[in-house]
Amino acid sequence: MPHVPNTAIEEMLRNADPQSAAIMANILNGTIVANIYCLSQDVKSKREVPVLDDDGNPVLFKSGKNKGQQKFETEEYLEREGCKGRLIGYIYDNGQVEVPKDKDGNMWLRSTRKRLDGVVGCECWCGNDSRIAAQEAGDIDFSGAQPTREGLNNIFDRVRKNPTVIESKNGRTIVDGFAFEEIA
Ligand SMILES: [Zn+2]
Repeated sequence: MPHVPNTAIEEMLRNADPQSAAIMANILNGTIVANIYCLSQDVKSKREVPVLDDDGNPVLFKSGKNKGQQKFETEEYLEREGCKGRLIGYIYDNGQVEVPKDKDGNMWLRSTRKRLDGVVGCECWCGNDSRIAAQEAGDIDFSGAQPTREGLNNIFDRVRKNPTVIESKNGRTIVDGFAFEEIA
């Protein structure tokens, strides 16, 4: 648990609305049972960029059928930076989730959702998102609409036939791009 001075905690609880204060008190009194890590990788893409000369001016074809037109070249660039194992959240014994700040003050875990296959789905600000299980896709979305009874039956049917693959490695449970590390 990140170290927070007691005076800061008391101040925070005093100024919070009753519901938030209750949640915070729960978290503060609870025990962390798991760390959440985001495993997203860098996403690289290619794009066409104009070729520039030493003065920064576009280079043109001097001859041939493209004479007078700009030259372009293919460049690889980082479209999305991956978290690559970044610690993004703590799960407490009461199920509450706390989001720590990184050294630059950023919080990465955007939201979580208990999926119907039993897994905690996560959404990270990097774009990595496991909130909807493959078995739920098509019958549950982010519109806020409740799944129909038929939809729920479909989901449970799919979960029964194809349970979610949970990979365990070095004390970590890995599901859909996020790792959960249980703490003894
Ligand atoms: Zn991430």
